[in-house]
Amino acid sequence: MRPETVLVEGGRPRRDAGEPMNLPVFLVSNFHSEKGGRLELDGSGDGPRRYSRVHGTPTSAAFEDTLGALEGGSAVAFSSGMAAAAAVLELVPVGGRVLLPQDCYMGVRHLLENGHNIGRWSLETVDITRPRSLTGSLGGADLLWIETPSNPLLEICDLPALVDAAHAAGALVAVDNTFATPLLQQPLSLGADVVVHSATKFIGGHSDLLMGVAVTSNSTRHEALLERRALAGATPGGLECFLALRGIRTMGVRLAATQASAAELARRLADHPAVTRVHYPGLPGHPGHERARAQMSGFGAVLSFELSDAAAADAVCDAVQIIAFATSLGGVESTIERRAKHPGQEHVPAGLLRLSVGCEHVEDLWHDLNQAISQGR
Ligand code: PLP
Repeated sequence: MRPETVLVEGGRPRRDAGEPMNLPVFLVSNFHSEKGGRLELDGSGDGPRRYSRVHGTPTSAAFEDTLGALEGGSAVAFSSGMAAAAAVLELVPVGGRVLLPQDCYMGVRHLLENGHNIGRWSLETVDITRPRSLTGSLGGADLLWIETPSNPLLEICDLPALVDAAHAAGALVAVDNTFATPLLQQPLSLGADVVVHSATKFIGGHSDLLMGVAVTSNSTRHEALLERRALAGATPGGLECFLALRGIRTMGVRLAATQASAAELARRLADHPAVTRVHYPGLPGHPGHERARAQMSGFGAVLSFELSDAAAADAVCDAVQIIAFATSLGGVESTIERRAKHPGQEHVPAGLLRLSVGCEHVEDLWHDLNQAISQGR
């Protein structure tokens, strides 16, 4: 099956006559146990499901089957993208060393800085867009964290080259694949060890749930992630799993529409006299364009663009009427935000706006952006 079909077919109930087409919402914490059975609190063991924090539910399993099939590994669903990231970071030994790009989701950076400050691991910021520059840093590193395309600068890195360099140095590679989605990029097939998603974004697609997922093709690591989830209580709720599965069914058509609109808006913004720079890997002038073409099957539905300064960018956020001024992304509704206003985003140009392109008509989005930019001038 092609990925678009996996999105629609993954995790369905059996096709027997009278079976429901969809799994129901399993609002359940407790399951009937077998007499004499033991409860493995770390999620290990092959026995029947007994407690949903430890073993998940039929809907979380269906979601995991679908994501595992898309990414080419075994998936573990989490209660948020950050919970998935935190579980992956627990793969780092105590006192280990983590390499992180400057441009990545700020929540992950805060989590890693917190771990550094309390002595859990040490942290070094590296430029993953130049794999050769990492040679010195990789010695003794335990984990290289990658985000490509990155949030919010849409930087692209050479995944196979980074994987080779990290593995040669004995470091694991984790890739936050949230912006690309499993449809446009499959990092495990390029050699990465673990993939992380905020399923809150494109996978759910409707801004109505918080969820995350981590996927790996290594069975020991899969067990370790299940254990972290069970011990930390980071298991997603039954309604969220249902909504995430329902959302992912349409991710193929949503993404086809939204990335076509993103490409069109990127082209028009690049020609706009008030816009000083557009960051979108689909533009031939983007420094990562060729690399993105090589390792992705599309350029995604997020772009960012720069205006002269913070005041001009804030004015656009005030003036948009269709596009929502909001922090999250990947929903059916377009959202815009000036990222440099957040702590930890000092490397982001003050006048940069990140735009997540939704399913509205592209001409309405362009009209909204154009009028908002004119008011900010
Ligand atoms: N990774 C990326 C790229 C994100 O944009 C986000 C959230 O904005 C996260 C991870 C964290 O996900 P969540 O908010 O679901 O915890």
